[in-house]
Amino acid sequence: MITFDEVTKRYADGTVAVDRLTLEAPTGEITVFVGPSGCGKTTSLRMINRMIDPSEGRVLLDGVDVTTIDPPTLRRGIGYVIQQAGLFPHRKIVDNVATVPYLLGWDKKKARDRAMELLERVGLDLKLAGRYPFQLSGGQQQRVGVARALAADPPVLLMDEPFSAVDPVVRTSLQEELLRLQAELNKTIVFVTHDIDEAVKLGDRVAVLRVGGHLAQLDDPATLLSR
Ligand code: ADP
Ligand code: ADP
Repeated sequence: MITFDEVTKRYADGTVAVDRLTLEAPTGEITVFVGPSGCGKTTSLRMINRMIDPSEGRVLLDGVDVTTIDPPTLRRGIGYVIQQAGLFPHRKIVDNVATVPYLLGWDKKKARDRAMELLERVGLDLKLAGRYPFQLSGGQQQRVGVARALAADPPVLLMDEPFSAVDPVVRTSLQEELLRLQAELNKTIVFVTHDIDEAVKLGDRVAVLRVGGHLAQLDDPATLLSR
């Protein structure tokens, strides 16, 4: 479980990006942060894997303050997917995914087998595994990004607008793939989006943020829609 306990983030220029945020992202659920651009979604997400540390308050992972865990150790247990998949441009698709288990000490063959299995799971046509990222569409690259984030089998997955840059048809397919995958894998997922429809579709619970970094509402999707 991830816990935000009265978390505030004030940047050096005085901007308050997140303002006394308190909420829980339970184990095995998808918690969505939704709200307009600039409401502190990305900042909140990045305080979980310590790309950013809070100015005040604490972020806890299974009860442990993340700032007491060194970032490399912490990030081994946290997959991270961003809007532009951020693949290594000079590595083949299979090696983009295999690099993670390889760095964790798996032998090359095992790492590649694992990569192929994951690429299949995220619905990538395996004929593409030998290509380079620039030879794939945006949606295909995002699938690879998800596979790479899952490669070390982290219990936690952070997703920052992962499907926002792809066209609506592909987006729908990626959303459905994520729900199928989650039904199998049962990760603790924190998903950031500005799209309320996406939030309602994917979230077990939805945190609505307002500019200034305030939590306006925290509900399951059905309750959210009924208000
Ligand atoms: P994106 O959300 O598109 O991936 P970033 O995460 O880099 O982009 O930035 C998110 C928001 O934070 C944007 O509004 C950006 O302008 C702002 N931002 C990022 N880094 C800085 C910075 N160093 N100084 C001021 N604003 C920043
Ligand atoms: P969102 O992900 O909801 O678009 P962000 O967390 O990126 O929001 O940003 C929240 C606020 O903090 C915005 O006003 C943004 O411009 C500001 N911000 C983000 N990064 C920085 C930074 N490094 N320095 C100053 N302000 C920042």
